[in-house]
Amino acid sequence: MIFSLEALVLSKEKLGEIDLLVELFTPKGKIWSIAKGAQKSRKRFVNLLEEFNFIKAHLRKTSKGKFPILEKADLLFLPESIRNDYRKYIMISYMGEILSKINFYGLFVEYFSFIKILFKEIEKNELILLLKPFFELKILKFSGWSPEFFQCVKCGYKPKKVFYLSIPEGGILCFKCKDENSESINLETIEVLRNLIEIPVHFEKLKKLEKDLEKSIEVKEKIFKISEKFFKYFLPFEWNSLKFLNLR
Ligand SMILES: [Zn+2]
Repeated sequence: MIFSLEALVLSKEKLGEIDLLVELFTPKGKIWSIAKGAQKSRKRFVNLLEEFNFIKAHLRKTSKGKFPILEKADLLFLPESIRNDYRKYIMISYMGEILSKINFYGLFVEYFSFIKILFKEIEKNELILLLKPFFELKILKFSGWSPEFFQCVKCGYKPKKVFYLSIPEGGILCFKCKDENSESINLETIEVLRNLIEIPVHFEKLKKLEKDLEKSIEVKEKIFKISEKFFKYFLPFEWNSLKFLNLR
């Protein structure tokens, strides 16, 4: 039986002498599939299986427990400017690594559509550095580790001026609940973090946020640090592409 679905090509590797094992990110979750003969005859897939292409994948189910066969692929979207722009490319590579390493349960359709819109926006816009914390916070949210920036994680009180932040506790603490793991954080920083975690993929808003932060470099640095700390604490993988992502 053949079934077709939209997919983002995350990676591919050689399988034996002639086949390719292709990692696809789809509205049904992640799927590993086998492109028969794709190493030898490039004709059938031309350059369709390059990473970060969006394709329509036509897959044939095989016996239980085996990977489906990728019979055919149609190109839906080719990230051209992303491939030709080094800064965009390392940003997308970081995102690709995250998508490849993290497993999500449920919410696949919402999650896929978020990624699709995001990649298309990155393709047609100038690179926004805030995309890094934006993406990290969104991934934390999708995986159920959303940091709490609105109320004290211990008592539920909503502080107005005085905030403390604790990574291990997963968010902000009020003056009464602060502990030795928490550090003081100002309202401006909290506001940006709240924005990043709340807004959908909206490049105009992200651009505006980034522009506003030009005046407050310290806040900007802080945002990047906090987001990355949360991300590494709750999703403690080895993030190889982070080494290259020093774009500030
Ligand atoms: Zn409290």
